[in-house]
Amino acid sequence: MDIQIVAPQTGHDYPRTWSEFLDWFGSEEACLKYLEELRWPHGFVCPACGVAEPPYRSSRTRLMCRSCSHQSTVTAGTIFDKTRTPLRVWFAAVWYLTNQKQGVSALGLQRVLGLGSYQTAWTLLHRLRRAMVRPTREPLKGLVELDETYLAITDREAPRARGKNQTNQVFVVLAVEILEPRGFGRIRLRRLSDDSESSVIPFVQDSIQPGARVRTDGSAAYRSLSKLGYEHDRKVHLGSPVAAHTSMPGVHRVASLLKRWLLGTHHGSIQPEHLDAYLDEFVFRFNRRTSGSRGLLFYRVLQQAVLTEPVTYEDVVQKTGRGGTIVAG
Ligand SMILES: [Zn+2]
Repeated sequence: MDIQIVAPQTGHDYPRTWSEFLDWFGSEEACLKYLEELRWPHGFVCPACGVAEPPYRSSRTRLMCRSCSHQSTVTAGTIFDKTRTPLRVWFAAVWYLTNQKQGVSALGLQRVLGLGSYQTAWTLLHRLRRAMVRPTREPLKGLVELDETYLAITDREAPRARGKNQTNQVFVVLAVEILEPRGFGRIRLRRLSDDSESSVIPFVQDSIQPGARVRTDGSAAYRSLSKLGYEHDRKVHLGSPVAAHTSMPGVHRVASLLKRWLLGTHHGSIQPEHLDAYLDEFVFRFNRRTSGSRGLLFYRVLQQAVLTEPVTYEDVVQKTGRGGTIVAG
Protein backbone atom coordinates (compact mmCIF):
# COMPACT_ATOMS: atom_id res chain seq x y z
CA MET A 1 0.00 0.00 0.00
CA ASP A 2 1.33 3.41 -0.92
CA ILE A 3 0.87 6.05 1.73
CA GLN A 4 1.93 9.58 1.12
CA ILE A 5 4.26 10.60 3.91
CA VAL A 6 3.99 14.21 4.99
CA ALA A 7 6.77 15.32 7.30
CA PRO A 8 5.45 16.24 10.77
CA GLN A 9 5.65 19.95 11.53
CA THR A 10 6.98 21.46 14.72
CA GLY A 11 4.38 23.47 16.62
CA HIS A 12 1.65 21.67 14.67
CA ASP A 13 2.28 17.94 15.11
CA TYR A 14 4.47 18.15 18.20
CA PRO A 15 5.33 20.88 20.71
CA ARG A 16 8.31 23.14 20.15
CA THR A 17 9.19 23.73 23.79
CA TRP A 18 8.44 22.54 27.30
CA SER A 19 6.07 25.43 27.86
CA GLU A 20 4.19 24.52 24.68
CA PHE A 21 4.20 20.90 25.90
CA LEU A 22 2.46 22.01 29.12
CA ASP A 23 -0.13 23.94 27.09
CA TRP A 24 -0.89 21.00 24.83
CA PHE A 25 -1.00 18.22 27.41
CA GLY A 26 -2.69 19.79 30.38
CA SER A 27 -5.25 16.99 30.79
CA GLU A 28 -5.73 13.26 30.25
CA GLU A 29 -8.33 14.09 27.57
CA ALA A 30 -5.78 16.10 25.59
CA CYS A 31 -3.30 13.20 25.77
CA LEU A 32 -5.96 10.69 24.67
CA LYS A 33 -6.91 12.90 21.73
CA TYR A 34 -3.27 13.22 20.68
CA LEU A 35 -2.80 9.42 20.80
CA GLU A 36 -5.97 8.93 18.74
CA GLU A 37 -4.58 11.18 16.03
CA LEU A 38 -1.30 9.29 16.03
CA ARG A 39 -2.90 5.87 16.00
CA TRP A 40 -5.64 6.68 13.47
CA PRO A 41 -4.34 9.59 11.38
CA HIS A 42 -7.19 9.06 8.88
CA GLY A 43 -9.86 8.50 11.53
CA PHE A 44 -10.83 5.65 13.84
CA VAL A 45 -10.61 2.13 12.42
CA CYS A 46 -12.24 -0.66 14.44
CA PRO A 47 -9.52 -3.09 15.60
CA ALA A 48 -12.05 -5.95 15.49
CA CYS A 49 -13.85 -5.55 12.15
CA GLY A 50 -11.72 -2.96 10.34
CA VAL A 51 -14.62 -0.63 9.57
CA ALA A 52 -13.53 3.02 9.42
CA GLU A 53 -16.31 5.09 10.98
CA PRO A 54 -16.31 7.56 13.86
CA PRO A 55 -16.97 5.50 17.04
CA TYR A 56 -19.57 5.99 19.76
CA ARG A 57 -17.94 7.35 22.87
CA SER A 58 -19.47 5.65 25.87
CA SER A 59 -17.01 7.08 28.39
CA ARG A 60 -13.87 9.21 28.53
CA THR A 61 -11.74 6.41 27.13
CA ARG A 62 -14.15 3.86 25.68
CA LEU A 63 -14.71 3.77 21.92
CA MET A 64 -17.45 1.58 20.47
CA CYS A 65 -17.57 0.51 16.84
CA ARG A 66 -20.85 1.48 15.13
CA SER A 67 -20.67 -1.57 12.93
CA CYS A 68 -19.84 -4.49 15.22
CA SER A 69 -20.21 -2.88 18.69
CA HIS A 70 -16.69 -3.92 19.64
CA GLN A 71 -15.42 -1.79 22.52
CA SER A 72 -11.85 -0.60 22.67
CA THR A 73 -9.64 2.25 23.80
CA VAL A 74 -6.87 4.09 22.05
CA THR A 75 -4.33 2.51 24.39
CA ALA A 76 -5.54 -1.10 24.02
CA GLY A 77 -2.85 -3.24 22.42
CA THR A 78 -0.18 -0.56 22.80
CA ILE A 79 2.58 -0.07 25.37
CA PHE A 80 0.09 2.02 27.41
CA ASP A 81 -2.33 -0.88 27.74
CA LYS A 82 -3.77 -1.16 31.28
CA THR A 83 -1.31 1.35 32.68
CA ARG A 84 -2.21 3.00 35.97
CA THR A 85 0.22 5.82 35.35
CA PRO A 86 -1.51 8.93 33.94
CA LEU A 87 -0.80 9.60 30.27
CA ARG A 88 0.47 13.05 31.23
CA VAL A 89 3.25 11.34 33.18
CA TRP A 90 3.99 9.03 30.24
CA PHE A 91 4.18 12.01 27.89
CA ALA A 92 6.47 13.91 30.25
CA ALA A 93 8.68 10.82 30.48
CA VAL A 94 8.92 10.65 26.68
CA TRP A 95 9.69 14.36 26.48
CA TYR A 96 12.43 14.02 29.06
CA LEU A 97 13.82 10.82 27.55
CA THR A 98 14.07 12.32 24.06
CA ASN A 99 15.45 15.66 25.24
CA GLN A 100 18.39 14.14 27.06
CA LYS A 101 21.01 13.55 24.42
CA GLN A 102 22.50 10.55 26.17
CA GLY A 103 19.31 9.13 27.59
CA VAL A 104 18.24 8.78 31.15
CA SER A 105 18.40 6.30 34.00
CA ALA A 106 15.36 5.12 35.94
CA LEU A 107 16.59 6.96 39.03
CA GLY A 108 17.01 10.18 37.03
CA LEU A 109 13.48 9.86 35.65
CA GLN A 110 12.02 9.11 39.07
CA ARG A 111 13.59 12.30 40.46
CA VAL A 112 12.66 14.57 37.59
CA LEU A 113 9.01 13.46 37.43
CA GLY A 114 8.68 13.08 41.19
CA LEU A 115 7.48 9.49 40.82
CA GLY A 116 6.61 7.62 43.99
CA SER A 117 8.49 4.47 43.13
CA TYR A 118 11.65 3.49 41.33
CA GLN A 119 9.77 0.51 39.88
CA THR A 120 7.29 2.81 38.10
CA ALA A 121 10.11 4.81 36.55
CA TRP A 122 11.89 1.64 35.53
CA THR A 123 8.76 0.15 33.93
CA LEU A 124 8.00 3.37 32.02
CA LEU A 125 11.51 3.45 30.60
CA HIS A 126 11.52 -0.21 29.76
CA ARG A 127 8.23 -0.02 27.86
CA LEU A 128 9.34 3.11 26.04
CA ARG A 129 12.53 1.40 24.90
CA ARG A 130 10.39 -1.22 23.21
CA ALA A 131 8.66 1.61 21.36
CA MET A 132 11.99 2.76 20.00
CA VAL A 133 12.16 -0.13 17.57
CA ARG A 134 10.39 0.81 14.40
CA PRO A 135 8.38 -2.16 13.14
CA THR A 136 8.83 -1.32 9.45
CA ARG A 137 12.30 0.13 9.44
CA GLU A 138 14.28 0.15 6.22
CA PRO A 139 17.20 -2.24 5.86
CA LEU A 140 20.72 -0.84 5.64
CA LYS A 141 22.02 -0.14 2.12
CA GLY A 142 25.13 0.84 0.19
CA LEU A 143 28.41 -0.01 1.89
CA VAL A 144 27.89 -1.72 5.25
CA GLU A 145 30.53 -2.80 7.76
CA LEU A 146 29.64 -5.92 9.71
CA ASP A 147 31.48 -7.14 12.77
CA GLU A 148 30.99 -8.44 16.27
CA THR A 149 31.96 -7.27 19.70
CA TYR A 150 31.78 -8.63 23.23
CA LEU A 151 30.32 -6.94 26.26
CA ALA A 152 31.48 -8.28 29.59
CA ILE A 153 28.62 -8.79 32.04
CA THR A 154 29.34 -9.19 35.69
CA ASP A 155 26.73 -11.12 37.56
CA ARG A 156 26.63 -9.62 41.03
CA GLU A 157 24.48 -12.33 42.53
CA ALA A 158 26.28 -15.39 41.25
CA PRO A 159 28.55 -17.22 43.70
CA ARG A 160 31.93 -15.55 43.81
CA ALA A 161 35.07 -17.39 42.92
CA ARG A 162 38.15 -16.17 44.70
CA GLY A 163 36.44 -12.93 45.70
CA LYS A 164 35.68 -11.95 42.12
CA ASN A 165 32.36 -11.39 40.38
CA GLN A 166 31.56 -13.95 37.76
CA THR A 167 31.89 -12.32 34.36
CA ASN A 168 30.05 -13.49 31.25
CA GLN A 169 30.71 -12.41 27.72
CA VAL A 170 27.71 -11.23 25.74
CA PHE A 171 28.10 -11.39 22.01
CA VAL A 172 26.72 -8.48 19.98
CA VAL A 173 26.78 -8.20 16.19
CA LEU A 174 26.93 -4.72 14.61
CA ALA A 175 26.17 -3.43 11.11
CA VAL A 176 27.09 0.16 10.20
CA GLU A 177 26.35 2.05 6.96
CA ILE A 178 29.44 3.81 5.65
CA LEU A 179 28.80 7.05 3.78
CA GLU A 180 30.92 8.43 0.92
CA PRO A 181 33.15 10.35 1.11
CA ARG A 182 33.07 10.05 4.89
CA GLY A 183 30.82 9.58 7.90
CA PHE A 184 28.46 6.91 9.18
CA GLY A 185 24.81 6.34 8.31
CA ARG A 186 22.43 4.11 10.24
CA ILE A 187 23.23 1.11 12.41
CA ARG A 188 21.68 -2.16 13.55
CA LEU A 189 22.70 -4.22 16.58
CA ARG A 190 21.64 -7.58 17.92
CA ARG A 191 22.69 -9.75 20.81
CA LEU A 192 23.37 -13.29 19.61
CA SER A 193 24.07 -16.47 21.50
CA ASP A 194 27.30 -17.08 19.55
CA ASP A 195 29.21 -16.02 16.47
CA SER A 196 28.32 -19.00 14.30
CA GLU A 197 27.04 -18.65 10.75
CA SER A 198 23.54 -19.83 11.74
CA SER A 199 23.31 -17.01 14.31
CA VAL A 200 24.84 -14.23 12.23
CA ILE A 201 23.16 -14.78 8.85
CA PRO A 202 19.52 -14.23 10.00
CA PHE A 203 20.64 -10.88 11.48
CA VAL A 204 22.27 -9.95 8.14
CA GLN A 205 19.15 -10.88 6.19
CA ASP A 206 16.89 -8.91 8.56
CA SER A 207 19.13 -5.86 8.63
CA ILE A 208 20.90 -5.43 5.30
CA GLN A 209 19.34 -5.11 1.86
CA PRO A 210 20.51 -7.69 -0.70
CA GLY A 211 22.80 -6.03 -3.24
CA ALA A 212 24.55 -4.02 -0.53
CA ARG A 213 28.33 -4.21 -0.32
CA VAL A 214 29.12 -5.87 3.01
CA ARG A 215 32.58 -5.49 4.48
CA THR A 216 33.65 -8.10 7.05
CA ASP A 217 36.76 -9.66 8.47
CA GLY A 218 37.84 -13.14 7.46
CA SER A 219 35.45 -14.99 9.80
CA ALA A 220 33.92 -18.17 8.35
CA ALA A 221 30.49 -17.07 9.64
CA TYR A 222 30.27 -14.66 6.69
CA ARG A 223 31.32 -17.04 3.91
CA SER A 224 27.83 -17.40 2.41
CA LEU A 225 27.22 -13.66 1.91
CA SER A 226 27.92 -13.72 -1.84
CA LYS A 227 25.53 -16.62 -2.34
CA LEU A 228 22.83 -14.65 -0.50
CA GLY A 229 23.06 -11.76 -2.95
CA TYR A 230 25.48 -9.46 -1.14
CA GLU A 231 28.66 -8.06 -2.59
CA HIS A 232 31.12 -9.42 -0.05
CA ASP A 233 34.19 -7.31 0.69
CA ARG A 234 36.39 -9.44 2.92
CA LYS A 235 39.16 -7.73 4.87
CA VAL A 236 41.62 -10.20 6.27
CA HIS A 237 43.58 -8.70 9.15
CA LEU A 238 45.89 -11.58 9.85
CA GLY A 239 49.34 -10.72 8.56
CA SER A 240 48.03 -7.46 7.16
CA PRO A 241 49.88 -4.24 8.00
CA VAL A 242 46.50 -2.42 8.20
CA ALA A 243 45.07 -2.50 11.72
CA ALA A 244 41.42 -3.48 12.26
CA HIS A 245 40.37 -0.02 13.45
CA THR A 246 41.49 1.56 10.18
CA SER A 247 40.01 -1.01 7.80
CA MET A 248 36.68 -1.22 9.73
CA PRO A 249 36.37 2.23 11.34
CA GLY A 250 32.55 2.23 11.56
CA VAL A 251 32.04 -0.86 13.66
CA HIS A 252 34.95 0.04 15.93
CA ARG A 253 33.56 3.50 16.54
CA VAL A 254 30.02 2.26 17.23
CA ALA A 255 31.22 -0.53 19.53
CA SER A 256 33.21 1.93 21.62
CA LEU A 257 30.31 4.43 21.78
CA LEU A 258 27.98 1.62 22.86
CA LYS A 259 30.29 0.53 25.68
CA ARG A 260 30.78 4.08 26.85
CA TRP A 261 27.00 4.73 26.79
CA LEU A 262 26.19 1.61 28.80
CA LEU A 263 28.76 2.55 31.40
CA GLY A 264 28.04 6.28 31.43
CA THR A 265 24.29 6.86 31.22
CA HIS A 266 23.35 3.59 32.85
CA HIS A 267 26.21 3.53 35.35
CA GLY A 268 26.99 -0.03 34.37
CA SER A 269 23.91 -1.33 36.17
CA ILE A 270 22.08 -3.22 33.46
CA GLN A 271 20.65 -6.61 34.06
CA PRO A 272 21.90 -8.90 31.31
CA GLU A 273 18.41 -10.12 30.43
CA HIS A 274 17.36 -6.56 29.59
CA LEU A 275 20.29 -5.80 27.34
CA ASP A 276 18.18 -6.10 24.17
CA ALA A 277 16.00 -3.17 25.23
CA TYR A 278 19.08 -1.03 25.88
CA LEU A 279 20.45 -1.96 22.46
CA ASP A 280 17.15 -0.79 20.93
CA GLU A 281 17.45 2.56 22.67
CA PHE A 282 21.06 2.96 21.57
CA VAL A 283 20.16 2.24 17.92
CA PHE A 284 17.23 4.68 18.08
CA ARG A 285 19.43 7.44 19.45
CA PHE A 286 22.32 6.76 17.10
CA ASN A 287 20.13 6.65 13.99
CA ARG A 288 18.55 9.97 14.92
CA ARG A 289 21.67 11.66 16.26
CA THR A 290 21.60 14.38 13.62
CA SER A 291 17.89 15.13 14.05
CA GLY A 292 17.68 18.87 14.65
CA SER A 293 14.44 18.66 16.57
CA ARG A 294 14.08 16.87 19.89
CA GLY A 295 10.32 17.42 19.56
CA LEU A 296 10.33 15.25 16.46
CA LEU A 297 11.89 12.41 18.49
CA PHE A 298 9.11 12.83 21.05
CA TYR A 299 6.59 12.50 18.20
CA ARG A 300 8.33 9.43 16.75
CA VAL A 301 8.44 7.58 20.08
CA LEU A 302 4.75 8.21 20.75
CA GLN A 303 3.86 7.29 17.18
CA GLN A 304 5.68 3.98 17.60
CA ALA A 305 4.28 3.54 21.11
CA VAL A 306 0.71 3.30 19.81
CA LEU A 307 1.79 0.67 17.28
CA THR A 308 3.60 -1.56 19.74
CA GLU A 309 2.26 -4.71 21.35
CA PRO A 310 1.78 -4.40 25.09
CA VAL A 311 4.54 -5.50 27.45
CA THR A 312 3.46 -6.32 30.98
CA TYR A 313 5.58 -5.81 34.04
CA GLU A 314 5.71 -9.60 34.37
CA ASP A 315 7.18 -9.78 30.86
CA VAL A 316 10.00 -7.46 31.74
CA VAL A 317 10.92 -8.23 35.33
CA GLN A 318 13.97 -10.36 35.74
CA LYS A 319 13.37 -13.79 34.37
CA THR A 320 16.21 -15.31 36.32
CA GLY A 321 15.84 -13.29 39.48
CA ARG A 322 19.52 -12.43 39.28
CA GLY A 323 21.06 -9.03 38.79
CA GLY A 324 24.15 -8.25 36.84
CA THR A 325 26.24 -5.45 35.49
CA ILE A 326 27.75 -4.57 32.17
CA VAL A 327 31.24 -3.57 33.09
CA ALA A 328 33.31 -3.18 29.97
CA GLY A 329 34.49 -5.36 27.19
ZN1 LIG B 1 -16.10 -3.06 14.46
